[in-house]
Amino acid sequence: MEIRINNVTHIYNEHTLFEETALEDVNLSLDEKGIIGIIGKSGSGKSTLIQLLNALIVPSYGNVEIADFDIKKNMKVKNINDLRRKVGLVFQFPEEQFFNPTVREEVSFALKYFRYKNDRIHKQVSEALTMVGLNDSYLERNVFELSSGEQRMIAIASVMVFNPKIIILDEPTAGLDYRNKKKFMNLARRLRDRYNKTVIIVTHDVDMLNVIADHIVALDNGKIVLSGSKNEVFKNATLLHKHGLRVPKIVEFTGKVITEKGVILGRHTDVKDLIKDIYRNV
Ligand code: ADP
Repeated sequence: MEIRINNVTHIYNEHTLFEETALEDVNLSLDEKGIIGIIGKSGSGKSTLIQLLNALIVPSYGNVEIADFDIKKNMKVKNINDLRRKVGLVFQFPEEQFFNPTVREEVSFALKYFRYKNDRIHKQVSEALTMVGLNDSYLERNVFELSSGEQRMIAIASVMVFNPKIIILDEPTAGLDYRNKKKFMNLARRLRDRYNKTVIIVTHDVDMLNVIADHIVALDNGKIVLSGSKNEVFKNATLLHKHGLRVPKIVEFTGKVITEKGVILGRHTDVKDLIKDIYRNV
C-alpha cells in the first residue's frame, strides 16, 4: 500500500481577498511503512499537508489516497469519521487539550463518543497504554499530575486507542527533555517494528530524524523540494540551507572531517560509531 498525493493544491480562503496558497500542485508517493519525517521552515506547508492526510481539511484541487480512502472535495462525512480511525493525528502539545481527570477517561473518551462497548473500551485502552510503553497501573491516575513526558505519552495513547494504521505527530518532541525525547524515539521505532504502523512526524529536529526516519520529505513555499531516504536528503546541504533547513550535526561533522582530513568515513547515526571510525582512519 502506498500513500499517494496527486496534484494537490490547497488554498485557504479561496476566491476571497485573503486567498493563501499553502500547497501548490504537490505530488508524492510514499511507501506505507516506516517512519516518515516532514521538514520545512515555518509557513512551508507542513501543517496543511498533515491535516490533508487526516481530512481535517480537504484539498482545493487534486486528491490524497491513504489507507484505502480517497480524500477529495465533497467526500462523505461518514468516510471522514472512518478515515480518522485509520489515520490518527496527534497535535502539537496535545496534553494542553486534556479535559478528563483520569487517564482511563482521557484515553477512552473518543471510544465512548463512538459508543464502543465497555469490554472493548477496556481492552483497547489497555492495549494503547501498552503501545506507548505504559500500563494499566496508570488508569486511575490524574492526568494533570503526571510528568510532562508521561502526559505526552497519554495523549499519544488516546489516538492509538483506535489502533490506527497510520499515526501522524506534529512536533512530538517539542518541550521534552533529552530523556523523554529518547523515550519518544523508542516509541516511534516500536510502533513501526512491533506494531507495523506508519509513523509520520513533522519536526524541526533533523538530528532525531537522522536517527529514526526511513524517509524524509522537505517542503518550502508549498512545494516539495526534496524527498528520499535520509541519506539521499541529508547529503544535499546546500539545497537544504537554501530552503532554510539544516543537515543533522553528525552529518555536518562527518563532512568536515572528510574534507579537512581527506579520509573516507561511513555514514553514522551514533556519535560513538563515528568516533571509532575516525580513530581507525585518521
Ligand atoms: P507550516 O506548518 O510549515 O508552518 P502551514 O501549513 O501552517 O505551514 O502554512 C502554510 C501557509 O498557509 C502559510 O503561508 C500560512 O500563513 C498559510 N495558512 C495556514 N493556515 C491558514 C489558515 N487557516 N488561513 C489562512 N492561511 C493559512
